[in-house]
Amino acid sequence: MATQSPSPTGPDLTEGVTLADFAGGQMLRGHVGKKSVLLVRLGDEVLAVGAKCTHYQGPLDRGIVVGETLRCPLHHACFSLRTGEALAAPAFDPLPCWQVEHENGRIRVRERLPAATPAPQKAPPDQPQDIVILGGGAAGFAAAEMLRRRGYPGRLTILGAEADPPCDRPNLSKDFLAGTAPESWMPLKPADFYKEQSIGLRLGVTVTAIDTAARELALADGSRIGFDRLLIATGAEPVRLPIPGADLPHVFTLRSFADSRAIGAVAAQARSAVVLGSGFIGLEAAAALRARGLGVHVVSRDERPLEKVLGSELGDFIRHLHEEHGVTFHMQDSITAITPDRVTLATGASIDADLVIIGIGVRPRTALAEAAGLDTDHGILVDARLETSCPGIFAAGDVARWPGGPGGAGMRVEHWVVAERQGQVAAQNMLGTSQPFRDAPFFWSKHYDVSFRYVGHAAGWDDSRIEGDIAARNATVSYLKDGQVLAVATIGRDRVALEQGQRLSGGRQDGR
Ligand SMILES: Cc1cc2nc3c(=O)[nH]c(=O)nc-3n(C[C@H](O)[C@H](O)[C@H](O)COP(=O)(O)OP(=O)(O)OC[C@H]3O[C@@H](n4cnc5c(N)ncnc54)[C@H](O)[C@@H]3O)c2cc1C
Repeated sequence: MATQSPSPTGPDLTEGVTLADFAGGQMLRGHVGKKSVLLVRLGDEVLAVGAKCTHYQGPLDRGIVVGETLRCPLHHACFSLRTGEALAAPAFDPLPCWQVEHENGRIRVRERLPAATPAPQKAPPDQPQDIVILGGGAAGFAAAEMLRRRGYPGRLTILGAEADPPCDRPNLSKDFLAGTAPESWMPLKPADFYKEQSIGLRLGVTVTAIDTAARELALADGSRIGFDRLLIATGAEPVRLPIPGADLPHVFTLRSFADSRAIGAVAAQARSAVVLGSGFIGLEAAAALRARGLGVHVVSRDERPLEKVLGSELGDFIRHLHEEHGVTFHMQDSITAITPDRVTLATGASIDADLVIIGIGVRPRTALAEAAGLDTDHGILVDARLETSCPGIFAAGDVARWPGGPGGAGMRVEHWVVAERQGQVAAQNMLGTSQPFRDAPFFWSKHYDVSFRYVGHAAGWDDSRIEGDIAARNATVSYLKDGQVLAVATIGRDRVALEQGQRLSGGRQDGR
């Protein structure tokens, strides 16, 4: 994604700084020419890396150092401080690194180092020759990228039902829908990437069956494609509403790039919108439509927006935030019928709407796995290595239920970074490693100028604690069960979210 870069700040690092300039901290941001560069102390050593995250340009000096890794405060990308490698999503491109010299007590940054070649993985005796990834979304893309990064030389194919290449799906309900991000920001990589990496990206292709015995996939056009390893990364699909008018052309769900484009096109002509559902996607869409100047009504069965995930205090805050921006809520209500210019509510009221978005949740796309006889339970069941009940077939992302959570009870979430990181872990396990997926779940959400970060997973809690001031947009909310913190949400405290995520991931140092 491209953004405007302001002029770099801080000292000119080619002229040198001293340890005293770190003022007791571990990081010091300065510049080399026009590039922002971060000095990081690791014991007696000082390393120099790019100061901006390669994902969304996040300020890495506001992140945290864990072992020899650096974590971005915005979306928790993890980089190696020694090589710059983007060890864990959502960043994929490495940070630049510079030579550092110590001279008479001064620390000077010298020439930029050549980009390090990521370490290839040792080929296992049964090295796969033909890997197929079913799904061209977050998990599928991240897996393909990691397979090539780790030196997998064989055939690699992504099959995706959408017509667009893997894209920045979270942006579909944010800046892109608001009309403030151009289309060119949306692809995760340009088309050349797939050619250069010899990744067969087949778009607009629907898989209709998985034949586990023949190790083949059946495609909607009648053809078949073989594999010796398969990653199922089919994601989740929006729940539809079986009411009169739900199939009218101005009624949408929001999952794909095509959905967001189509909503944007209708919004450009529309005056009033109704969003059904007060979850993250519905509310982000509401904010984006307000940014376009539409009148927006949110209709929801719940008492408060997002209460089941964030609790009543944050739920009230979010409602007020949206109301301040002109959104009208109809809580504990539903839609019973839609016509071309109005919706009727269960309570009998009717609201003008020339655009309707149904955002009432998603279901994991498990049908292919179920029909193939793989173990499923509200998700495809995988082991800690993300392998399904059929050896050589892995699953990752929104569709996978992995043995996480308290006591390994099992967890399935719908989070961008989890999907990408699971794709990365599954890729390496396909190549013969035995890495468990152990990251604490993390997601973020943005409404107007307020961003939330959430780490961990609390399906239910018996106690919650608030530190700081939610109304002042500077707060941490912890969700506890039996005295144990299961999850933490923050506003205006990005570093706390990083630290808590690290703690909930078991304090691991390696970022892998
Ligand atoms: C609008 C929106 C905003 C979001 N915002 C955030 C956010 O702010 N923060 C956050 O953490 N998460 C967010 N999410 C959630 C996040 O995008 C998902 O968790 C993530 O995309 C899941 O990745 P995935 O690879 O499992 O599935 P997806 O990215 O959905 O990819 C699944 C792919 O599989 C393909 N597919 C499915 N079935 C078939 C088939 N039979 N044949 C061929 N291809 C098939 C689909 O076409 C798709 O390309 C958002 C989601 C949406 C929709």
